[in-house]
Amino acid sequence: MFEHITASEIAGFGVGGLLLAATIYAPKIDSFISTSQRSSLGMCKKCGDLRLIACSSCKGSGTIKGGAFNFILLEDKSKVGSSSSCTKCRARGHFQCPECSKLSQA
Ligand SMILES: [Zn+2]
Ligand SMILES: [Zn+2]
Repeated sequence: MFEHITASEIAGFGVGGLLLAATIYAPKIDSFISTSQRSSLGMCKKCGDLRLIACSSCKGSGTIKGGAFNFILLEDKSKVGSSSSCTKCRARGHFQCPECSKLSQA
């Protein structure tokens, strides 16, 4: 999955990786709790019946600003025009929930 990564993204890994780790682990704990709550309510464990899952690459925005991981640090630079469409979600910012699409097809 790393074939298409650019040099600026690699640079962003060093600094952005630390920020990312901090931002990722807190929501993970939260989602673990809400997952058990959702299942007890009969809701979809993945999306909570939203039928959509936010794209993790672009954080649901549909665009990658100056690389996937350094967009926080380079927020001002990104306004100059280094943002590009997210290829992971095809710029939609979300995916269809695999769990819900399974149910609707059945
Ligand atoms: Zn995306
Ligand atoms: Zn779902």
